[in-house]
Amino acid sequence: MGTLTGKTALVTGSSRGIGRATALRLAGEGALVAVHYTSNQEAADDVVRTIEKEGGRAFAVQAELGVPGDVHELFLGVEQGLKERTGATDLNILVNNAGVMGGVSPEDTTPELFDRVIAVNAKAPFFIIQRALTIMPDGGRIINISTGLTKVANPQEIAYAMSKGAVEMLALHFAKHLGPRGITVNSVAPGITRNSNPVFDIPEVVEQMAQLSVFNRVGEPRDVGDIVALLASDDARWITGAFVDASGGTLVG
Ligand code: NDP
Repeated sequence: MGTLTGKTALVTGSSRGIGRATALRLAGEGALVAVHYTSNQEAADDVVRTIEKEGGRAFAVQAELGVPGDVHELFLGVEQGLKERTGATDLNILVNNAGVMGGVSPEDTTPELFDRVIAVNAKAPFFIIQRALTIMPDGGRIINISTGLTKVANPQEIAYAMSKGAVEMLALHFAKHLGPRGITVNSVAPGITRNSNPVFDIPEVVEQMAQLSVFNRVGEPRDVGDIVALLASDDARWITGAFVDASGGTLVG
């Protein structure tokens, strides 16, 4: 029996990257997982198939975040999927993982780009939590994916880092608010982690990025997914309001 048998989970942005690895791990521990995506249905379906092949349970949910009505659309799909499979809509674990980067200099950051980064990365997680709390039983888990860039400067990503700084506030304040319900709220901050960005196909660049970690490699999505699964488990019941460095030692300097 896995550590999460009988639990249900929503992982936003789990068609690819860190979200995918997190969904696979949570399902591997026995949770029924809502695999959320925005446009890449094929990838989300592949995550569901992979989970099912390994004996787990999952379903895909589509919703674009950062647009009006996003949270409503997301939870229509989540609640329907949970109801069909469990007869109820209880959600035990929420992982706010979906995110977009900026990737432009401060001089070239337009108000539109800024608004989008804030809407997807910071505003959506707040309202997803607000909505999730209506169906989350006591003892639930909320994990928000931040970034090491709230501690280390990168001028190409000021708007992104600002949005993740806001995300980190969710753990601090919601941890206090939700303590009486036994719900923990934590931030997990990855360092450079392999995803589908073509930059990871260029060996020289990967080698340079690897040097930022004390382990001299870039992070793999499952390095982060495993940490999320730990925080989602009963063993982590005494950790709340925390900033968890999941950067492979990048932040030690
Ligand atoms: P990927 O770029 O590999 O995947 C992004 C995921 O989010 C996809 O599932 C995508 O869905 C979904 N998504 C993107 N935009 C939206 C949107 N507007 N609405 C709904 N879903 C959306 O992500 P990573 O694994 O690289 O990153 C995951 C998290 O980790 C992010 O919050 C990121 O900021 C953070 N992070 C990543 C680091 C890294 O080096 N990779 C480092 C530090 C933090 P679809 O497949 O349908 O497009």
